[in-house]
Amino acid sequence: MGKLVIFSAPSGSGKSTIVNYLLSLGSLNLHFSVSATSRMPRGCEKEGHEYYFLTPEAFKEKIDNDEFLEYEEVYENRFYGTLKSEVQRILDNGGNVIFDIDVIGGCNIKKYYGDQALSVFIMPPSVEELRLRLEKRATDSPEVINERILKAEFEMTFAPKFDIVIVNEDLETAKAETFEAVSLFLNS
Ligand code: 5GP
Repeated sequence: MGKLVIFSAPSGSGKSTIVNYLLSLGSLNLHFSVSATSRMPRGCEKEGHEYYFLTPEAFKEKIDNDEFLEYEEVYENRFYGTLKSEVQRILDNGGNVIFDIDVIGGCNIKKYYGDQALSVFIMPPSVEELRLRLEKRATDSPEVINERILKAEFEMTFAPKFDIVIVNEDLETAKAETFEAVSLFLNS
């Protein structure tokens, strides 16, 4: 029976880099759970790769048909969710599932799967450091950065609900620590 590894973190904490690193190691047999969303594709995002892109109506229809393991309406008509069929497809093929998901969705999936799942919270070293990283990235205005910091502070209050917390002070160290914890879990 395959297992599930859930990653959640405030944005800017290096979560996606760590998830991509684990995926690049074929040895862990991890397969990315592609979420569904009703937001529009950004840049070069492709259907079925970053997300399954649905209209708000199609998303709501799937909610009514009980097709989601969990979902959230982040803003009005902007939904994100994990399809039961996506997780089942990976497990049926003998794989382990890896999720890159927000903190609330992460807690919900952990609750549903219990010991079959490992939930990992990637923590930035501090709020000050997170601010510096977001400023260095220079993709957001000061207002957006402030919003992200407020959201990050809220999200960080969820860390104790996760099985393990990895502090990403140094990326290589965080990758190594994560690899060790995930392989221990998958091989136990
Ligand atoms: P973005 O629009 O930047 O791709 O994602 C926005 C947020 O939605 C991120 O925090 C991401 O982790 C979260 N998210 C992505 N997929 C899911 C999902 O399946 N369920 C939930 N609850 N959140 C998700």
